Amino acid sequence: MPVINTVHGPISPDLLGVTLPHEHIVAGYAGFEYDPYTRPYNREKIVNICLRALEPAKKYGLNSLIDATPMDLNRDIDVLKDVSEKMQINIICATGRYTDDMGKWTYLKQRAKSKIGDMKTELYESFMYEITKGIGQSGVKAGVIKVATGLSNISTCEEAMLRAAAQASKETGIPIITHTEGGTMGPEQTELLLEEGVNPKSIMIGHMCGNPSMQYQLSVLDMGVNISFDRFGIEVFQPDKVRLANLIGLIGIGYTDHIMISQDFIACGFGRGGILPEEERQKVANWSFTNIFRNILPALNHAGITDEQIKRIMVDNPRKLLSGVQPL
Ligand SMILES: [Zn+2]
Repeated sequence: MPVINTVHGPISPDLLGVTLPHEHIVAGYAGFEYDPYTRPYNREKIVNICLRALEPAKKYGLNSLIDATPMDLNRDIDVLKDVSEKMQINIICATGRYTDDMGKWTYLKQRAKSKIGDMKTELYESFMYEITKGIGQSGVKAGVIKVATGLSNISTCEEAMLRAAAQASKETGIPIITHTEGGTMGPEQTELLLEEGVNPKSIMIGHMCGNPSMQYQLSVLDMGVNISFDRFGIEVFQPDKVRLANLIGLIGIGYTDHIMISQDFIACGFGRGGILPEEERQKVANWSFTNIFRNILPALNHAGITDEQIKRIMVDNPRKLLSGVQPL
């Protein structure tokens, strides 16, 4: 029987229900801790902000989510555990790392540069540790491996990360979910992971809705992997209408069983906070944990997508992605 690692231990895939496969409970970019105006860390306050953000989605039937925050974007396992318990939703957390540009790579780069350590090996060991032993002292095991590449390029670090993730996924069945930047490198990520021998069912190429080209979508889908349209509501990058048109088209030509949808929402970001300029603010007006339920699913229905197809996208596809894992 396969199991899924959640922040409260292993569960049967049948218990997942409606699942958002790429969201963030808390996240913070490297360096926020040196900002003297950073909001002070108050776990109770943070948990309450997250619960308030999740509650409306829970009312729409949300039952599980993948927290796609990698180790170097300030994952907070204690907050995840608290939120999961209080909201009564399953949270699957990630091991893995962010892009060369925006993640925390200095330590590994220094070790590789001075030939003390091999980057791919050390990445693989850290992923395996978090999958099999747990994250830090928490005992919580990661349920997905998050990997990321930058704009129009896969750097040396990112390639080592992809190859290390591939090895860990092959040994454990833990799926790989990805970050692509600006609608680029989806095909290249897919090729590299498949060349390493990862099961295509255990791959979800992310942020695919960042590229409006149907050829781009098909070039990835036709390699047999899953993709996610997971930034609904972030219209700074792409209007939801464009995402919807492509999504409806792909479902219409038979790819229902390989697509997942999500919002890449961040319930609570670390740092001093701030207000976006008015023009940008309008472009994220719908960004929340409920945009899919309030706006996107009705639009799919309106276009003739059936409730049965929506169930495959929201329930069956995440379950299949996460179901490759045998008890460790
Ligand atoms: Zn994300």
